[in-house]
Amino acid sequence: MTVETSPVRFFEQIPSQAGFADRFGRKLTYLRISVTDRCNMRCDYCRPSADAYKAESHANILHYEEIERIVSVAAELGVTKLRITGGEPLVRRDLPVLIEKLSAISGITDLALSTNATLLGKYAKELADAGLHRINVSIDSLNTLRFRKLTGGELAPVLAGIQAAKGAGLTPIKLNTVLMKGINDGEVSDLIDFASDIGATIRFIELMPMKQGLDWDKHYISIDEILQRDDVRARVDVHAPLQTGNTAARYLPLQSGKGDVGFIMPMSERFCEGCNRLRLTADGGLRSCLPADDQLNLRDLMRSGGSDEDIRSTFLRSALMKPEIGIYNFDAESEKQSMIHIGG
Ligand code: SAM
Repeated sequence: MTVETSPVRFFEQIPSQAGFADRFGRKLTYLRISVTDRCNMRCDYCRPSADAYKAESHANILHYEEIERIVSVAAELGVTKLRITGGEPLVRRDLPVLIEKLSAISGITDLALSTNATLLGKYAKELADAGLHRINVSIDSLNTLRFRKLTGGELAPVLAGIQAAKGAGLTPIKLNTVLMKGINDGEVSDLIDFASDIGATIRFIELMPMKQGLDWDKHYISIDEILQRDDVRARVDVHAPLQTGNTAARYLPLQSGKGDVGFIMPMSERFCEGCNRLRLTADGGLRSCLPADDQLNLRDLMRSGGSDEDIRSTFLRSALMKPEIGIYNFDAESEKQSMIHIGG
């Protein structure tokens, strides 16, 4: 269900001393912005099926000026952290132009990018010069053939892209791996070693049942199961207390003493309690919760002459719509419930 925006004001329901918060007192300081629902990879867990996803027309996608305007309002409300995502954000033309605009907005103190890294060899320096702070890279396998089968892309440019990001100072680099039983769950220790060798932090993510081309029932594996394995225990101190930061990840120290490994457990251990996020889809939908279907349409609001005050009121409405707990009960027929459409 999509809820259309109306300029109704809800300010009085927000306690003034709470800042920009939801009904449960969670401060909303983090906006994830998808700049495109197009991608140069074909990951089965992210899109409905190999080539079945039909991308939004360019006319429906927010212009950079529209994103800049939305972020300016969000920053006034108290948003300090932005993550640019997609689709693959680097397939959108002139991304450094947007980065430059966003990095100049007062109040934004953390500006990060999620990418598959294939185009970082080309853009890392330009992005850093434009004001990007750091990157997260998706890497689901170190095996060339498996990587190709899983993503439809090549591993070599990803590895080159990570090096380019390091060289450009886009650090600390975080690597993200979606765990899939029978596909890449045997690579956990190799991936930990790889991350350690290159000085990055790796986080393993439980597969979420989005609208995707992969059978979730067949391929889901919990972090708990991974942490029972001997090769993983040889590397990770599973007896140490789990470190919680201000993100969805929980961290355990490496046995080597050289850093941590992260675990993101949307299925086995909900992290909703500390959730500080809102999401902006590439076509202008403001979403308060990844799995909750309701979203407000900022694109239509702006294109029909809505004021900054209307944008502000839409943010406050979205905050009030944020559920206490996100529940994954997607309509399996809706292609709009894939990560590629919502933005990861
Ligand atoms: N193209 C960029 C990238 O590769 O990181 C950004 C978009 S991607 C959708 C963002 C994140 O969503 C990735 O870390 C990906 O692993 C994660 N993701 C997508 N579908 C998922 C699923 N079904 N379960 C868990 N994570 C998922």
